[in-house]
Amino acid sequence: MLHTIKQGVRKFSTNVTSLINCNRLEGKVAIVTASTDGIGLSIARRLAQEGAKVMISSRKELNVKNTVEKLQSEGLEVAGTICHVGKTEDRKKLFEKTVADFGGLDILVSNAAVNPSVGTVLDTTEEVWDKIFDINVKSTYLLMKESLPLLKQSKSPSIIIISSIAGYQPFNLLGVYSISKTALLALCKATAEELAPDGIRVNCIAPGLIKTKFSRAMHEMEEAHEVAISQISMRRIGQPDEIGGTAAFLASDDASYVTGEVIVVSGGMKSRL
Ligand code: NAP
Repeated sequence: MLHTIKQGVRKFSTNVTSLINCNRLEGKVAIVTASTDGIGLSIARRLAQEGAKVMISSRKELNVKNTVEKLQSEGLEVAGTICHVGKTEDRKKLFEKTVADFGGLDILVSNAAVNPSVGTVLDTTEEVWDKIFDINVKSTYLLMKESLPLLKQSKSPSIIIISSIAGYQPFNLLGVYSISKTALLALCKATAEELAPDGIRVNCIAPGLIKTKFSRAMHEMEEAHEVAISQISMRRIGQPDEIGGTAAFLASDDASYVTGEVIVVSGGMKSRL
């Protein structure tokens, strides 16, 4: 006899920030790209709450200024600079300012990504393909490469790449974006192997559906929202603050034997066998 599966899910608190009481990142310096909003901001805040000095960055000066002021008003040690991750000169200044303000670098979080258009993979224009791969994949690769002289001087260096659950199972109409996120999983595996002799750990976080401007269509349109949460075991969209703790763990010495891995943070959305 078939039994009906109960679909209700208990409501658990997502107020993770109020519980933080550890200083795993004391003495470390972090860069988080695209850290003036959404997941990047959540990661930057959490790393700073755990004791790191954090360099905030994104494309718009006002966003950087407002975010730095906000985090400083929370008692966190942060500074900021403009960095469009696709611009060589901006990336150079990002590293220079981090050294000038904080004296070195221990943690690089490559978080910036774009998805300029929605459509099928084979209808995507070459221009859109190039933009997605330039920002999501090539900029991550260049940031990693350019950070090495600094990370090699760190006692516990670590790189964290923000991929996506779409990297495992391409999202409908976000095919090229999904392909770029799969490429990041491979970038993580390949570079973790190459950088292990230098003691540099490289890991990925693959968020599921998280409530940010980026995913607005999924949580603002009722029909899309219903379809989306039907695929999530916990039957809710995640909050940006539910990603920061995973980044803090991967950046910390608690993860000293973890490299080349991907942590999926998706409320149970399926990602693998
Ligand atoms: P978001 O809320 O839209 O955040 C955008 C942030 O990126 C802002 O700070 C923006 O500031 C900055 N930004 C945009 N383009 C940039 C560029 N070229 N260079 C530097 N900064 C840039 O996005 P999010 O949802 O937090 O996404 C963050 C990461 O998580 C991305 O890698 C995304 O693929 C991944 N992810 C998101 C979800 C989700 O459901 N939200 C799921 C899986 C993975 P400015 O406008 O000032 O530049």
